[in-house]
Amino acid sequence: MLDTPIEYLKGIGPQRAEVLKKELNIFTCRDLLTYYPFRYVDRTRFYNIREITEELPFIQLKGYIDKLEIVGQKQGKRLVVSFKDHTGTLELVWFKGYQWMADKLKTGVEYVVFGRPTFFKGRVNMAHPEIEPITETFLTQQSAFQAVYNSTEKLKLKGLDSEGIRKLIRALVQQIQPQHVEENLSSEVLEDHKLISRFQAIKQIHFPESAQQLKRAETRLKFEELFYLQLRLLKLNKVRAHTVRGFVFSRVGKFFNEFFSYQLPFELTNAQKRVLKEIRVDMGSGRQMNRLVQGDVGSGKTLVALMSMLLAIDNGFQSCLMAPTEILARQHFQTFKDLLSPIGLKVELLTGSSSTKERKRIHASLLTGETNILIGTHALIEHSVQFQNIGLVVIDEQHRFGVEQRAKLRDKNASPPHMLIMTATPIPRTLAMTLYGDLDTSLIDEMPPGRKPIKTQHFMETQRLRVFGFLKEQITLGRQIYIVYPLIKESEKLDYQNLQQGYDNLIHEFPPPQYQVSIVHGQLSNEQKEFEMQRFIKNETQIMVATTVIEVGVNIPNASVMVIESAERFGLSQLHQLRGRVGRGSDQSYCILMTGYKLGPDSRLRMETMVRTNDGFEISEVDLKLRGPGDIEGTQQSGVLDLKLANLAIDGHVLQLARQSAQTLLDEDPLLELEKNKVYTTHLILQQKNRPNWSKIG
Ligand code: ADP
Ligand code: MG
Repeated sequence: MLDTPIEYLKGIGPQRAEVLKKELNIFTCRDLLTYYPFRYVDRTRFYNIREITEELPFIQLKGYIDKLEIVGQKQGKRLVVSFKDHTGTLELVWFKGYQWMADKLKTGVEYVVFGRPTFFKGRVNMAHPEIEPITETFLTQQSAFQAVYNSTEKLKLKGLDSEGIRKLIRALVQQIQPQHVEENLSSEVLEDHKLISRFQAIKQIHFPESAQQLKRAETRLKFEELFYLQLRLLKLNKVRAHTVRGFVFSRVGKFFNEFFSYQLPFELTNAQKRVLKEIRVDMGSGRQMNRLVQGDVGSGKTLVALMSMLLAIDNGFQSCLMAPTEILARQHFQTFKDLLSPIGLKVELLTGSSSTKERKRIHASLLTGETNILIGTHALIEHSVQFQNIGLVVIDEQHRFGVEQRAKLRDKNASPPHMLIMTATPIPRTLAMTLYGDLDTSLIDEMPPGRKPIKTQHFMETQRLRVFGFLKEQITLGRQIYIVYPLIKESEKLDYQNLQQGYDNLIHEFPPPQYQVSIVHGQLSNEQKEFEMQRFIKNETQIMVATTVIEVGVNIPNASVMVIESAERFGLSQLHQLRGRVGRGSDQSYCILMTGYKLGPDSRLRMETMVRTNDGFEISEVDLKLRGPGDIEGTQQSGVLDLKLANLAIDGHVLQLARQSAQTLLDEDPLLELEKNKVYTTHLILQQKNRPNWSKIG
């Protein structure tokens, strides 16, 4: 029954069906039934206008329209409605669609109004409230909370505003029987987690009888959603383990040992040792490794990658490392060459700016196996880059790359190489479980010894002279300074002006020859950038003015101050990344956040969070709460955004349980072949059919 096309449902017909398909992707009764409300109105409580105070959230009122008029000119034109109950009046205001509203609303009819009150010059206001006449249906309706559905302008024209959609769903819910809604969780799982049936949940999510019932319905459906997401990811992992054979790196040989004894510049941290061990076990197990290493900026991931690559070489394989920017690739190349040439290994660098001649030479040396390690940018992906025998691929700063790029590197060998994926963008656990749910993960949760925590302070524009004074002190102490400007595509022109102006002011304040200032940004050629970077690296200049091109990975231990201009324009994770450029040596390091005087509440919270903590994970949690999963880097191409009910920012607990459940199921039946688990395979296939995007995850 649920597969019935919606045009056959009473009250819909071909025209409405057309808009439902186009606007909401609702094709069948099943789709309509799983079009969940985005909010509820507590219909059990009406406020009196006199009771309204400034702290109230969304509230519900009952009353009549006293007067309604369109006022203002051009952009300021709006509909102002004076609305009264027996205790007072307030103003309802519409800036958009006011003509339509003005035509629809009438005096003398009793309305229910729902919205968020605001105070303006001592008067109470409600902008764009929901308003509907108290109708028979409303009064006889039995549910305590009334569902509110998202609608669109086109749907509204066909009478399908929230109320219209609710009516359709009510008609459908009244028709369905328990057997129509297939249960897709086993009775064991339902019992274990005290979940209500799917049928009950779907009824209650649309027409809840009480707050408690609503809560149970939400929990059940969120669990189901997250369970299937995790099942899909974990299954992918199992299927790979069963079907893809990995190279066995059984030996710890000459190169690893020689490096360890003679070249290792310092003692490994315990976290580095642990992660290295996890990688060794993986690569020796016979299954192909797909491992994510998470570690805050400066935690020493590079070295872990390097030593893993030595294991590959010891077992007769080549390996490569791909980094997101040319600057970073060069820096890695330098590090690797310095550490590995003395033990007789050949490291090469391949980037977009390598010459044709250089490329040819490198291509050839990869094929003969003469080159042991190749480092580079996206250039590594190109088809012309072929190895004699690649056994390990490392991807640095994974969030900068797409899933497809990862896959292309995987295909560089007939049998897939081990994959080691590194990220310095700490992401909340919930998000990691989802974005990287099909990968095994390792965590470097310890910094190399001797690092002093970076001190972060927030300054306003008016305190700039004080900041300059501080910078001079630091330069006198022999330190170097980054000053970073935002560069955002939409305002690129203006941003370059700001950068240039900031640079000019700086030169004025820090004149040559006493001071030397470098500048690096995206409009310079690679040679110019490289030249300026080198001057800074060699400590020939004390200040590096830059846009975010320096964001990722650059390592200059003597740079101990990071000034971030217009810090309010950066997201939290970006601020944290930038701050990670300093604090890499033994000196006390500082991060200075410069902002304008007026800050919105979100910006203020971002600055406060940065000042309060250096913990990337804590910061990522705040970031997730502020922005929602959709804006966190790396989520766009994943299925995270397809979640209908669950919210990764707040449903961490449910996610944890759902993942455990899926894991238990797969531990017992890795490929879901048992008869009793057929329900899961069936449902997975059904979902796959409805959401082709899922296949892109991981
Ligand atoms: P990230 O994890 O951000 O990639 P890097 O690998 O660039 O960090 O390491 C940051 C700095 O810490 C480098 O200068 C590196 O040489 C140094 N480092 C790495 N491991 C250790 C260690 N165990 N002890 C001391 N310094 C270390
Ligand atoms: Mg790094």
